[in-house]
Amino acid sequence: TARAACCGTRTATSASISTTNATSLILGHRDPQVTAALQAQAEKGTAFANPTEPEVELASLLTAALPSLQRLRFTNSGTEGVALALRAARAFTGKSKIAKTEGAYHGTSDHASISVTLRVSEAGMPSSQGLTAKTLDDMIIIPFNDAAAARRIIEQHGDDLAAVIVEPVMAGIGYVPAEAAFLEALREACDGQRTLLIFDEVQTLRMAPGGAQQWYDVVPDMSCLGKIIGGGMPVGAFGGRADVMAAFDATEGAPAIPHGGTFNGNPMTMQAGLATMRQLTPEVYERINERGETLRHQLRKWRAAPGCRFASAASRRSSACKLTDRPVTTYRSAQGQDEALRQKLFLHLLNEGIT
Ligand code: PMP
Repeated sequence: TARAACCGTRTATSASISTTNATSLILGHRDPQVTAALQAQAEKGTAFANPTEPEVELASLLTAALPSLQRLRFTNSGTEGVALALRAARAFTGKSKIAKTEGAYHGTSDHASISVTLRVSEAGMPSSQGLTAKTLDDMIIIPFNDAAAARRIIEQHGDDLAAVIVEPVMAGIGYVPAEAAFLEALREACDGQRTLLIFDEVQTLRMAPGGAQQWYDVVPDMSCLGKIIGGGMPVGAFGGRADVMAAFDATEGAPAIPHGGTFNGNPMTMQAGLATMRQLTPEVYERINERGETLRHQLRKWRAAPGCRFASAASRRSSACKLTDRPVTTYRSAQGQDEALRQKLFLHLLNEGIT
């Protein structure tokens, strides 16, 4: 059944339909090791003014898993990590514009709030009120998986373009992988324009130990992380090239980018993250993705039933699924998910106690 495929027992790893918390709780609710780590840390103290050992340990674990991260900083959300990565790119390049892929979700900072809605829209349409004209003017939209268009757009705006941010596998439209040629085109075009390439792996680190970037020959200048690295506690992180991250160091003569934050690297979060990430061996990742495949297989079988109209477009190497009746490779082809059906399925899962 979907239930068995989706959640199994309480301690099972999660293959999620689309619940928000499942995206951070890769080991499911109340994992015993995570709970124990949180209890132990609570006994020691929940907030300190200085960096703590678990912060260093989690940073070491993540930089070892993702070699492109020469330096890493923790935040309290993916949103903050993305916003700071974009600011670092501006500081490093001295340029102001940012390109993102159409329909991609990178959190809710001002610049990330352009072209997010999953409804087909004019490219560049803001997905929020309250944005300034300057913010809108700073954002450039690239169609996902269109290498030729990406090259053209990056070259056209190169003089002003600080960074291109992209998910190597676009999670919001159903974990749709970027074609290698697309990411290679981004890398080449960015190099040609002194523009930084940023991978948003806030969601996709759940796919493989080194994130989705481990599958490509493209090395990003910076990456953003979040979700599972906090083991269900509020978290984000961003990092990358040491020379870019140096923008956060206080230097004589130039103001650093300030990165305060009362709860950055909070020890409770760091302990939950460590207790989670330490359990995520390559075999566990494989098992989680297999569960996704079981779920997708079951959904495809149901699709054959009269009155049903869904399949999954998600990558085989993911624990996600997307309800759609056609192949999805781009944001535009992802349109037309059966929303009513998704809602029903979502409610059914809630009624079955799957949250
Ligand atoms: N980037 C991506 C790809 C995300 O999926 C999300 C959250 N869903 C974010 C950034 C923002 O993370 P947060 O919700 O922690 O602010």
